[in-house]
Amino acid sequence: METLLEKHWHHLEGSEAARFLDADPARGLDEFEVERRFQRFGENLISGKKGRTALSRFMLQFHQPLVYILIVAGVVTAILGEWIDSGVIFGVVLVNAVVGHIQESKAVRALDALASSLSAEALVLRAGKAVRVPAAQVVPGDVVLLRTGDKVPADLRLLSDRELRVDESMLTGESLPVDKDAAPLPRDTVLAERRNMAYAGTLVSSGQGAGVVVATGNRTEIGRISELIDAADELETPLTRKISRFSHVLLASILILAAASFVLGVLRDEPASEMFMAAVALAVGAIPEGLPAAVTIILAMGVSRMAGRKAIIRRLPAVETLGGTTVICSDKTGTLTENQMTVQEIFAGGASYAVSGLGYAPEGAVEPVKGGGAPDAALVECLRAGALCNDSRIRLRDGRHQVEGDPTEGALLVSAGKYGLDAGREQEEYARVDVLPFESRWRYMATLHTLPGGKVGRVACLKGAVERVLDCCKSAMLPSGEVGGLDVAAVIEAQHAMAAKGLRVLAFASKELPEDARLERSESCMGMVFLGLQGMIDPPREEARTAIAACLRAGIKVKMITGDHARTAEAIGMRLGLRGGDCLAGEDCPVMTGREIAELSDAELTRQVPGIPVFARVSPEQKLRLVMALQRNGEICAMTGDGVNDAPALKQADIGVAMGITGTEVAKEAADMVLTDDNFATITAAVEEGRGVFANLLKFIAWTLPTNAGEGLVILAAVLFGVALPILPVQILWINMTTAGCLGLMLAFEPMEPGIMDRPPRRPERPMLDRIILRRIGIVSLLLLVSAFGLFKWELAFGASMEAARTVAVNVFVMVEAFYLLNARSFTRSPFALGLATNKWVLGGFWTMAALQLFYTYAPVMHRLFSSAPLGPWQWLRIVGCGLGVYFLVELDKKLSASDI
Ligand code: ATP
Repeated sequence: METLLEKHWHHLEGSEAARFLDADPARGLDEFEVERRFQRFGENLISGKKGRTALSRFMLQFHQPLVYILIVAGVVTAILGEWIDSGVIFGVVLVNAVVGHIQESKAVRALDALASSLSAEALVLRAGKAVRVPAAQVVPGDVVLLRTGDKVPADLRLLSDRELRVDESMLTGESLPVDKDAAPLPRDTVLAERRNMAYAGTLVSSGQGAGVVVATGNRTEIGRISELIDAADELETPLTRKISRFSHVLLASILILAAASFVLGVLRDEPASEMFMAAVALAVGAIPEGLPAAVTIILAMGVSRMAGRKAIIRRLPAVETLGGTTVICSDKTGTLTENQMTVQEIFAGGASYAVSGLGYAPEGAVEPVKGGGAPDAALVECLRAGALCNDSRIRLRDGRHQVEGDPTEGALLVSAGKYGLDAGREQEEYARVDVLPFESRWRYMATLHTLPGGKVGRVACLKGAVERVLDCCKSAMLPSGEVGGLDVAAVIEAQHAMAAKGLRVLAFASKELPEDARLERSESCMGMVFLGLQGMIDPPREEARTAIAACLRAGIKVKMITGDHARTAEAIGMRLGLRGGDCLAGEDCPVMTGREIAELSDAELTRQVPGIPVFARVSPEQKLRLVMALQRNGEICAMTGDGVNDAPALKQADIGVAMGITGTEVAKEAADMVLTDDNFATITAAVEEGRGVFANLLKFIAWTLPTNAGEGLVILAAVLFGVALPILPVQILWINMTTAGCLGLMLAFEPMEPGIMDRPPRRPERPMLDRIILRRIGIVSLLLLVSAFGLFKWELAFGASMEAARTVAVNVFVMVEAFYLLNARSFTRSPFALGLATNKWVLGGFWTMAALQLFYTYAPVMHRLFSSAPLGPWQWLRIVGCGLGVYFLVELDKKLSASDI
């Protein structure tokens, strides 16, 4: 079977291709056969994607300026015959690489796991039934059904097509979608022109189709060229990039400083080897090399926390951006509302009807309210059109009636049933011969049916947005069943009355056509007979209301962008509490429609967009203009979307948000974040987590930089004053490696501070380290300098050995860092106000560090490796005193600077 690919599938008839593959185009494969082929051909996955191998990632750990410096230092110390120092330095380089590699692999694995939890699905025919399966389980011979927005799961020979257009840009580079056609092609047709094939990884941009799988996994066209696809691990974010740029600048200045201090020392007749060690110590101590990696790890942890709240992050930088979101643009149906449609009102034959009952259960009745009464032919035809122009089904599952397919259409089956029309029987009697599927940009769906009882001719049914359907109608069905004049004003009045109650209104029309008729999407839909309107409720989600209120409190604007009618959108928007955010009390809240957007220039749209909370009848293309207008106003914009045409807006938005349940593969691919529950409240939760992660990053940075600055200052002071180094390079390495892992990273587990959603979003132009943070870093660095350098001199003055004095200095650094960690848990609150036990990791890290320092101070092996020496109780008391002193001074600074925050 494998070799058949070379046998030019495109040259065969579709049915012939299916026969070669032992597949039944109408039934697909059965489960047993699927299993057999799965065993034989394996998973439909592309293996050997070019990513970084574990080894190359490990080797990259050595590709850092700090490591270069260490290697030079290691070599020079070896040349000087300092074997132990040299050994320790190389040991540290290795341990550093191993730890870095393990942490990075963990982050990559966590992200990979999330990415695969979003694995694509495919709709396939198995034993006559259309079922959704993970794309990885598709086998050769499977019959795949394609819908707008699907990603083609494997290479297919098309069996049928309906307005099928596929975006093959990733395969052929051609940016326009290609029209597909199942007819056979000449043998020598080149790949890009094989219109009867659909290739794995390409995207269905519109229409429908079916095809039989001819190749899976690495045997697909894309599988063969997969080495060309760069699967770079996206671990870099704007912040990590900023930090590594910062550390490079710092590196250059520190090297100059180190060189200067070396020259200065040598001029002063200090031994060159000692001065070399001082220069190395300065470089090693002052460069925050571990910072980018720590930031990545903290962000990756944020990603898994967000996943726990049903928001899957597809790109790491999104975690960072989320915290700064200033406006969220959301779809209405399904995100802000339940997407549980129930028809409540009908307008047909000039009369109004009320429909009782809720949900998809068949209980309820259609009762006349104004005029009307049985028999009303217009009502029956309106309900019938709803049942025929329909792709959904109602199923009884777990004792509940549930809809399969579009809930809007499900509601129409139920309303027909409540009037005694059995949708299943109607669909049998009026067999469908053609369809124009619903698409957001068209806002209608049409079907063509045979007439019942062997009558000659066809009937076309049309359903869609009211203005669309009215455009096609000049006449209307009367209650008697005859065709009469259409009272457009009455229809619009009825529509407005329904929309004002927040109902989603659909209009219906039909037309008898000759036997050979086909449906075409063209403007010439004239001559349809208007049948009526059905208005359905889609209740707002309760949690969306709460989440919107939370957003408004957090200074985040919320805008509803919907394809629905302006009045319906406004009514729902009001119920969700959207008014409060953008409109002054008592002011009328404007709704802008797609038509109005089309008339505005970009500049005018930019001016008006901030004041408008609801955008209605917006086409997906206009979402892109809205995002750009918001961004021109300096907003950080999150935008939701589910359809193919939403992809450009999702890409343009700072945070593109796709729907996990109803979203198309195209939208998911374009998005930065996918909601597994399609719920607006999840976006708010993700923003909250984003703010928490960003706050923890700042805390980590504010905690870690004083160590580097303090170490640098101590060395500089020693060189300037011409005294022995209080800490040696290997000791600096010890401090940096142990404190970052045992202490600093524990800040990643810091729970969100209360009130995190009561503050306005961080302004994008605000520098990462603002005045308060810089001041705090400055204070702690100076305190470190004074206490470490001071105590070192004190010990020497009172007769301690050089080893003991240095051990005291090292312990001062670690002790101050440990106490300062408690401070760093919040910029404003004391650790007691936060609750000491609210971050047990910090306490755990604190005690682990204490144990490590005892080991460092008392273990003979450490004496040999790091030249440490045992200390007495008074020395410890002074060290702890330094830690406590810094703690209290920082708490005092919190009190003094509280008003600046
Ligand atoms: P949102 O963009 O908030 O999800 P929406 O779901 O109302 O809003 P669309 O699905 O694009 O937006 O629908 C736009 C309009 O098209 C609807 O207001 C309705 O009039 C019409 N419509 C929706 N679904 C169908 C359907 N299945 N068949 C025919 N017309 C439909």
